[in-house]
Amino acid sequence: MDGSGEAARAPVPYRRSAMEPLEPEPLRADVAVVGAGAAGLYAALTAADEGARVALVSRSPLAQTASFWAQGGIAAALAEDDAPELHAADTVAAARDAARESAVRVLCEESPGRVRDLERLGVRFDADRRGNLALGLEGGHSRRRIVHAGGAATGRRITRELSALAAVHGRIEVLEPAAAEELLCQEGRCVGLVARRRGGERQAVLARAVILATGGMAALWERTTNPRGAVGAGLSLAVAAGAELADLEFMQFHPTALRLDGPHDGFLITEAVRGEGATLLNADGDRFVDELAPRDQVALAIDDELARTGKRAVGLDMSMVDLERFPNIAAALGEIGLDPGREPLPVAPAAHYTMGGVASGLEGRSSLPGLYAVGESACTGLHGANRLASNSLAECFVFGRRAALAAAADPPPPRDAPSAAGRELEAPGEPTRAALWRHAGLRRDPDGLRELLADPHPLARVIAATCLAREESRGAHQRTDAPETDPALDGMHTLVGAGAEPRFERWT
Ligand SMILES: Cc1cc2nc3c(=O)[nH]c(=O)nc-3n(C[C@H](O)[C@H](O)[C@H](O)COP(=O)(O)OP(=O)(O)OC[C@H]3O[C@@H](n4cnc5c(N)ncnc54)[C@H](O)[C@@H]3O)c2cc1C
Repeated sequence: MDGSGEAARAPVPYRRSAMEPLEPEPLRADVAVVGAGAAGLYAALTAADEGARVALVSRSPLAQTASFWAQGGIAAALAEDDAPELHAADTVAAARDAARESAVRVLCEESPGRVRDLERLGVRFDADRRGNLALGLEGGHSRRRIVHAGGAATGRRITRELSALAAVHGRIEVLEPAAAEELLCQEGRCVGLVARRRGGERQAVLARAVILATGGMAALWERTTNPRGAVGAGLSLAVAAGAELADLEFMQFHPTALRLDGPHDGFLITEAVRGEGATLLNADGDRFVDELAPRDQVALAIDDELARTGKRAVGLDMSMVDLERFPNIAAALGEIGLDPGREPLPVAPAAHYTMGGVASGLEGRSSLPGLYAVGESACTGLHGANRLASNSLAECFVFGRRAALAAAADPPPPRDAPSAAGRELEAPGEPTRAALWRHAGLRRDPDGLRELLADPHPLARVIAATCLAREESRGAHQRTDAPETDPALDGMHTLVGAGAEPRFERWT
């Protein structure tokens, strides 16, 4: 622990607003799902297919989910020369001795079944000439095991299909646009939520359980591959209601995000192009890293090159890649006016994936009864300190299903809504995003992190507290004052609740 005492306590990420009345009638459901990305849609459909009445609350249109933008695919041991054990070994190796092995086992064993479920639901994955699933290779995977749809349009195809099913499902009521602002609790249980609807009204939803599927928080960092709404809203809701968060210091930086001025900065060039032969070149035109090494290694190697040369970007040479295999990347580059056949693309790391989140078990249960978290908002410990490419969509479906089944079996909610405290989620300002990039980026030092403890955004302060607590370098980040990995912290996860100091716990 950092030992900075009071300063490192995690604040409650809420501002109290004047008490506003709720709509007179609460909406009643068995399961309330917050978020309509891959995890939320799949959890909602699973619960509804099991007979539960579902309220699906989504703040934004589909194109603003990270799921919509997912380019690579879903990792699943489906090839004849593959097995869940091999997938698990790759996941554990990438996670830098910090993966929760039980979560890894669940993911790798159940992911093939979820791919087959998605096919049954109507998702058409890319096939080879013989009609078998075409399996791609990505960094850190020892086998071809990445399932794609429409080349690099996997997320778009899946969310389109699942949202169409949710929209017409007789047991799913969709509240959109509606932002969950507060969780409702009674006698130590989460029994629902308050959502602010389009016209500003505050609607209570009472349910057996609430499943948070609100995505990650990478857009709290200045340079990011994520949509702007990915600011950890679910984490803020959970910690304010009394649930614990875990591993917030583990932010993954994607190595190859376009480095441009203007709105296309951060556009992600999938790892799959490196799987197909694209190379990374430094300022002298030389290769400097194994392009298929796990993400943390590649990102840190690029960061070293940038520090050494003072440049803003390295080059991604895609001249040998068949762009027809990546039609939406080709289209996006065409729109921006970049021709990867003629010159290497300027790329640099950007905040990409939240390995931490709401601390949750193998059924998605948080530390607050009645509250579940799935997808990128959750932290089961599966990814440890470095997520393996394409394991996150797999996680959305594997743990989305498990949480949906568990939540639907929880006890019924009370008849009347408990009183709501009247709270408002705070939006991060640009200075907060710049400060997180500067002080909690790939390289961190304790002075910068202490400065971050005074940031106006409460979640930034919680992140600073957990970053300070982990006095070592592991996976995605390097501490300049502690450049080595501390074996005493192998398998240890950082837990933090509102008003408490971060503590470590071993998860198996
Ligand atoms: C560019 C890019 C490419 C990627 N490629 C891949 C890949 O190829 N393979 C892979 O496995 N992973 C990939 N990832 C990661 C993966 O896409 C995400 O981890 C995953 O899609 C997260 O899904 P989710 O359902 O948890 O969250 P999201 O898809 O982000 O959805 C979050 C939902 O929550 C809603 N929401 C948030 N706050 C509130 C609130 N307060 N009230 C109501 N609703 C709220 C949002 O509106 C949204 O509907 C990629 C990510 C990015 C950004």
